[in-house]
Amino acid sequence: MKEVLKLKKSNCKNCYKCIRNCPVKAISFANDQALIVYEECIMCGKCFVVCPQNAKLIRDDLSLAKSFVENKEEVYVSIAPSFVANYDGVTIKAIDEAVKKLGLAGAEETAHGATIVKNRYEQMVENHEKDIIITSCCHSINTLIQKYYPDLLCYLADVKSPMLAHGAKLKKEHPNCKTIFVGPCISKKAEADLYQGDIDCVLTFEEFSHWLEESNITLNKESVDDIEKGKARIFPTTGGVIASMNSKPADYTYISLDGVENCMKALDDIRLGHIKNCFIEMSACVGSCIGGPTMDKQKRRYLIRDYLEVKNYSGENDFNVNQPNKDELQHEMKQINTFISEPSDDIIKHILKDMGKTSPEDELNCGSCGYDTCREKAKAVYQGKANISMCLPFLKEKAESFSDTIISNSPNGIIVLNEQLEIQLINQSACKLLNIREPKDVIGLSSVSILDPRNYLQAMNDELSIYENRSFLAEYNKYVDETIIYNKNYHILISIMRDITKQEIEREKKEEISRKTIEVTDKVIEKQMRVVQEIASLLGETTAETKIALTKLKETLKDE
Ligand code: SF4
Ligand code: SF4
Ligand code: SF4
Repeated sequence: MKEVLKLKKSNCKNCYKCIRNCPVKAISFANDQALIVYEECIMCGKCFVVCPQNAKLIRDDLSLAKSFVENKEEVYVSIAPSFVANYDGVTIKAIDEAVKKLGLAGAEETAHGATIVKNRYEQMVENHEKDIIITSCCHSINTLIQKYYPDLLCYLADVKSPMLAHGAKLKKEHPNCKTIFVGPCISKKAEADLYQGDIDCVLTFEEFSHWLEESNITLNKESVDDIEKGKARIFPTTGGVIASMNSKPADYTYISLDGVENCMKALDDIRLGHIKNCFIEMSACVGSCIGGPTMDKQKRRYLIRDYLEVKNYSGENDFNVNQPNKDELQHEMKQINTFISEPSDDIIKHILKDMGKTSPEDELNCGSCGYDTCREKAKAVYQGKANISMCLPFLKEKAESFSDTIISNSPNGIIVLNEQLEIQLINQSACKLLNIREPKDVIGLSSVSILDPRNYLQAMNDELSIYENRSFLAEYNKYVDETIIYNKNYHILISIMRDITKQEIEREKKEEISRKTIEVTDKVIEKQMRVVQEIASLLGETTAETKIALTKLKETLKDE
């Protein structure tokens, strides 16, 4: 099975918003990039919708759809009933006309399949086939139950989804045709991959719009339907399945739920045995399919308007469909193993310790890592989905402790001043250098009381740092090389002072010794010159050569 949702390389900025919003935490991090854990994912598309970097990419199946046309196949489109919310003022007639221009055979509403499915649900409630019946229309909910609530599969209606039922209907009516489903859902792509035969390709509304645009086809808003309004057109709204049912025997309570989290709470309740005799319509998306992840982005905020569009387009009577028999609609959904391993309490404690959480007070449960609690995060670390450093408080503490260690152990004096030149931080080395007993004696005081402020003022005025400026602090009898860094963004000055007093005294001593040596040498040379001159005059020779040699000797000594 090909991946339906993947990551755009290097777009991820590690904000963990996708983890925070993923209802089943099916996201792992590797090399600072979010990855979907396919075995755990239920294809709800939330991570795709919330990602601020658009890092998630939906598989593009347009080339597959086009290949059907190129191969001269007879192709039918099954269009999801939410299309009226996605395409303002557009009817099925306009869709049919447009797909024919693309070279396809025609389009029909998936609502016909929905009618078949809801007819079967009616039979189920009339026959009281199960104590609890959970609708099977939403592939994400079906997958949620298959992966996370396999013990509740007995309550999931073993009925094809409207998409598959409609695909089967089209294939029955047009043997050997190809079927393309167009809708607002990512998980339908996975459903068609998993249960092959009824639907050959799934396009999102976006992919379909793209196909029309590149073929210069516009949807004609003037095209008016001449077909009856089907009741099942209301299916893509919360409560739409129940609203379309004609028969609702009173021995069931009929409830509709939307949003994965709400559905999970209900499933937890069912698991605990608190619920009996209920027909529960479940949709992963808030607002049901009209809130689907690939609905037009601009429209996602207008659920009521979308609801009204769908409601106004639906009618009072059922579409006239040939109802297949129960076996043709039978759709068995089996458990899917997620291979999620659960760590022991000891392992969790150990990981929490590595995360710097040694007591319950350290477990802030702030959620910034994407997990609701520190324990959940520790579990994800064990499962290889998260790493320890994905914890803002932990990183902050670590960074602070690093900088504290560096500052307090530095042999250099470090002073941080604000723009008013008040001391914000001073380390022990600086205290020693400036004869300060301990940092708290000067924190908050003006630095003018301990240091000449001119260089700091200059660094601020010029907005430039000053490096290795050598000066003598007469008050403290100390020589220092001082670097002043002005950080305009944080409105601070950082002074780093290297005490070079010893080196300077050493240097002065050496200079003194050298000076004295030269003096002595000078005297020796003069004396020798006099002797040589006397000898030379006695010997009648010039003293020039000897003088040059001796002068050279003197220069050499000076250089040393
Ligand atoms: S939402 Fe997820 S994929 Fe998107 S940038 Fe944030 S961490 Fe990365
Ligand atoms: S599609 Fe849904 S389940 Fe899958 S990773 Fe994204 S948010 Fe999680
Ligand atoms: S404290 Fe850290 S591990 Fe705990 S929830 Fe917050 S970010 Fe996650």
